[in-house]
Amino acid sequence: MKAYAMLEVGKTGWIEKDKPKCGPKDAIVKPIAISPCTSDVHTVWEGALGDRHNMILGHEGVGIVEEVGDEVKDFKPGDRVILSAITPDWDSLEAQRGFPMHSGGMLAGWKFSNFKDGVFAEYTHVNDADGNLAILPDDIDAGVGCMISDMLPTGFHGVELANIQFGDDVLVIGIGPVGLMAVASAAIRGAARIFAVGSRPNCIEIAKEYGATDIINYREVDIVEQTMALTNGKGVDRVVVAGGNNDTFIQAMQVLKPGGIIGNVNYLGEGDYIKIPRVEWGCGMGHKTIAGGLMPGGRNRSEKLIALIQAGRIDPSKLITHRLKGFNKIEEALFLMKDKPKDLIKPVVILE
Ligand code: NDP
Ligand code: ZN
Repeated sequence: MKAYAMLEVGKTGWIEKDKPKCGPKDAIVKPIAISPCTSDVHTVWEGALGDRHNMILGHEGVGIVEEVGDEVKDFKPGDRVILSAITPDWDSLEAQRGFPMHSGGMLAGWKFSNFKDGVFAEYTHVNDADGNLAILPDDIDAGVGCMISDMLPTGFHGVELANIQFGDDVLVIGIGPVGLMAVASAAIRGAARIFAVGSRPNCIEIAKEYGATDIINYREVDIVEQTMALTNGKGVDRVVVAGGNNDTFIQAMQVLKPGGIIGNVNYLGEGDYIKIPRVEWGCGMGHKTIAGGLMPGGRNRSEKLIALIQAGRIDPSKLITHRLKGFNKIEEALFLMKDKPKDLIKPVVILE
C-alpha cells in the first residue's frame, strides 16, 4: 500500500509498505479523511521522540472499517469511524490505574506515528477496536470528524488537567487548534473570564467566538504584565498551556494564584529542563500545581465529545481553514502545518 512517512529526523516522503494484518481484537481501517498535527511537526523536524525510520505519519483521521478480528463485538466492515490519536490497551494495568494514555509505558498509549505506523496510509491498524473506535454519526462530516481524533479531546484535556471550576478566571496560552478547543472547553466548564494568548488574527477571532473574554497578543504586550493588569494584580485561578515554549512555565507560574493549577498539553519538543520561578512558586510552598498530560483517547471520550457537538455545545468545524482533496495532498497538508501560514488554523485532506 501507499503511505506518507517520516524517513528519518527532518525528512519525509512517500513509501510503499505491506497492508497491516488484523489480530483478534483489532480492526483494519481505510482512512477517508486525515489531518496533520503540530505533533507530527515536533516528531519529524525536532526529532522530539528520537529517530524513526520509514514510520507512517499521522494520528488524526476518519475511516471506513475494512476488517475486524474475531473478538471485536461492536464494529463491522463498512462502519464510518473516528481514528482516535491515542489508542490505549484497555486491559493494561496503567489503564486500570486511570492512565490509559500510558498503557505499556510512558506515552505508549500514543501508538500512531509514535510506536507504530500512523494513518497517512491506504490502510491503518487499530488495536483494541472495541475500546478505541467510535462511530462517526452521519450528521458530522469526515473533515470535522478528524477534529475529534485529537484537537477537541486534547483541548478538553488541558481544561481537565487544570481542573477548571465554575467562576474561575483562566489564562489559555496558545490559541492554535488545541488552545482554541481549550477556550471552548473552559467556557463549557463554567470559567468566568478567559484570557486567550495568541497573535494570528483568525485564531483571535475564533477564540472570541468560543468564549474568550480578553485577548493577549504576546507579540505586542507582555503576557504577565497584561494578565496582572486585567485582573487588578490578582492573577488567575487556572492556566492552560497549549502553546509557547519551555519558558512559558515561568510566565504561567508568575500569574497563577496560590492554590492554582497549570494544565499543560503543549508537546515540549526541545531542551532538557523547564525552569520554575522559585519565589512565584511560593519558595516551593505556594500550592501551585503543574499537571501535564497526553490526552487519554478511547471510545468513551470520542462518544462524549460527539454528544457535545450534537447538542450544539461545541463546534470544532471553525478550526478547519484549509480543505484539500485527494490522497496525494497529504504532503501539502503536512507542510502547511509545518510552515503555518498566517491564515491557517487546521487543514484536512479528504482522501477519496
Ligand atoms: P499551533 O502551533 O497551531 O498553536 C500554538 C499557539 O501558541 C499559537 O496560538 C501561537 O501563537 C502560540 N504561541 C507560540 N509561541 C508563543 C509564545 N512564545 N508565547 C505564547 N504563545 C505562543 O499548535 P497546536 O494548537 O496545533 O498544538 C499546540 C500544542 O499541543 C503543540 O505542541 C502540539 O504538539 C500539542 N499537542 C498535544 C497533545 C496532547 O495530547 N497533549 C495532542 C495534540 C497536540 P501565534 O498566534 O503567534 O501562532
Ligand atoms: Zn495530533
